[in-house]
Amino acid sequence: MSAGAKVCDKAETGLAEGLAQLGERYDAASLFPVDSLALIAAAGLHRRFAAPEAGGEQFASEQTRYAAMLTALCDVGRGDLSAGRLFEGHVNALLLFEWYGSHDQKRWLRDQLEKGAWFGVWASEPQPGVQIQNAGCICLTGAKSFASGAGGINWALVTASQQGAERRLVTIHANDPKRADLSGWRVRGMRASVSGHYDVTGVEITEANLLGSPGDYDREPRFTAGAWRFCAVQLGGIEALIAETAHHMSPKARADTLLRQRFAKAYVAARNARFWVEEAASKAADETADAITTARIARGAVEDAGLLAIETAARILGTRSAFDGERADKIARDLSLYLRQAGPDYARDEAAKAILSREFGERGEIT
Ligand SMILES: Cc1cc2nc3c(=O)[nH]c(=O)nc-3n(C[C@H](O)[C@H](O)[C@H](O)COP(=O)(O)OP(=O)(O)OC[C@H]3O[C@@H](n4cnc5c(N)ncnc54)[C@H](O)[C@@H]3O)c2cc1C
Repeated sequence: MSAGAKVCDKAETGLAEGLAQLGERYDAASLFPVDSLALIAAAGLHRRFAAPEAGGEQFASEQTRYAAMLTALCDVGRGDLSAGRLFEGHVNALLLFEWYGSHDQKRWLRDQLEKGAWFGVWASEPQPGVQIQNAGCICLTGAKSFASGAGGINWALVTASQQGAERRLVTIHANDPKRADLSGWRVRGMRASVSGHYDVTGVEITEANLLGSPGDYDREPRFTAGAWRFCAVQLGGIEALIAETAHHMSPKARADTLLRQRFAKAYVAARNARFWVEEAASKAADETADAITTARIARGAVEDAGLLAIETAARILGTRSAFDGERADKIARDLSLYLRQAGPDYARDEAAKAILSREFGERGEIT
């Protein structure tokens, strides 16, 4: 896909460098990273991946668009994974508007983006989940958990269920301080993603808030294949951690055969992860039949590379890897949480089943 893309590039982009500096500050204070998002916007990425009618860039093809998206997600993740999580949620929302929004909703989105609004997508929820009630007014009940940007971003697309129908998307304000609860967001990493609780009980909605139909959010291959986007952000963090490890590898460590081999193993794992993320992005762009399996393989490759990069940084940098203010420490803390996405082993197993049935016959022959 992007033949020119380098793994562990020494010359990080200005955007990644700026985000890394801000990320240190927001990690210490655990605040919604307003300045980081401003930097992303200043780099021209705030509206770039919206549909053209919502103010986004007109790309020559979906392949070139997804390749540019991958580079952007990876660059932001390379700088700061919390900012990357927020940016990825925003990009996800832009795509959902493009796929399922009406003409009027896309015009509304264009207007909001012109005003600089940031979006997120909140699906995770404590039971019984967010419901649409139709008693007098149309209101929501329930709450969202792991709601990245709660109280900070302007709008969220939340999933909600209604009378046994499949869940659907509803656009709501996301920055009501009375509804956001960050008191439980006491985490080792990803602090500035402020992924707290958001109470939606009593939020009134109209037809204009409903995006698409019941079941659209879960429509395949978009839903599962879309995992490639968070993989791209995580990949940026992994490449940054490997680069950080190399930069601070002491002459003694560089002269050690075992440590050199450990470094090369982590480097190769990251390179392998990049291959799969690029494959997954390319297949998601075309919505091919194996887009889902490829995204699941990418998830496994990225998780393996991330865990190995964390271990390798610890083994090569020693105690330095665990000190406050060390970039390697922050990336490792962020990655260790961000890699915990839903059902990782389930995703690997589904991919394994698909590979076995697709590429090998019943008796293990390649078909
Ligand atoms: C920093 C951060 C930001 C996030 N932001 C958002 C957001 O903005 N919006 C949003 O909707 N969500 C968000 N999430 C939630 C995310 O999408 C996942 O739902 C969440 O990370 C899963 O958490 P968990 O490990 O507790 O999951 P659980 O699903 O509770 O899984 C815990 C463990 O149970 C096992 N398990 C779970 N499912 C299966 C299965 N099917 N088969 C086998 N084993 C299984 C696995 O061992 C798994 O590791 C965020 C998460 C993080 C960490």
